[in-house]
Amino acid sequence: MAQLSRAVGIVLRTQNHAETDRIAVLLTSTQGRLDVLAKGARRLERQSGAALDVSNLVEVIYYRRRGLALLKDVDLRQAFPCIKGELPRLETALAGLAWAMRLVPKGQPDPGPFRLTLAFLESLDRGALPGPLKLGYELRLLSLSGHAPHLEGCLRCGGEEGLTWSPQEGGFLCRACGGEGEPLSPKLVRTLQGLARLPFPALGRLQVDEALLGKMEGLLLEFREAQLSR
Ligand SMILES: [Zn+2]
Repeated sequence: MAQLSRAVGIVLRTQNHAETDRIAVLLTSTQGRLDVLAKGARRLERQSGAALDVSNLVEVIYYRRRGLALLKDVDLRQAFPCIKGELPRLETALAGLAWAMRLVPKGQPDPGPFRLTLAFLESLDRGALPGPLKLGYELRLLSLSGHAPHLEGCLRCGGEEGLTWSPQEGGFLCRACGGEGEPLSPKLVRTLQGLARLPFPALGRLQVDEALLGKMEGLLLEFREAQLSR
């Protein structure tokens, strides 16, 4: 019998495999992303419900064979029913988990991203405002991944005037220091700084208008991709 291992993780994504199998990507507390293959999962789910649903917190027992982690048992720890009961919350959770999928590598022993993602899902499940919470989560995940944007004034001179967004340079860059394009509104600059600083419970109560949220979401996405391609 192969040696059994155990892990606690959040289901980031699932994908059908062969006739009745499923591959689940977990964000674990001890080894970053972990892909587990659940043999016969789709057949079993018809009888016993789907423990491996996206955003669930699960405990898995698995063994390795030819480099694959094969699921032996799965235990549902937390299902976040309020997230699943409300479409905007579910969409926010899925968008957040896609960030973890992109930023957390396989085999990473740091438990930080797991703890952060769990706190994000718990806040979302308890009724936090989805938009600000998600941006706060993304900013923290960037920091934990070593890609924190520089948000305290211009990254070269520290100035507060005429700040533009420079994903390549790593954050705010003023026009005098070579920042290109339209300067960002002072309101956007302050809000982004607040989102990076406020703790989760407070973040989930922050009222930010939709247009500003959309704009900041675009800036962070652009930033993430620029940082990952460096
Ligand atoms: Zn400057």
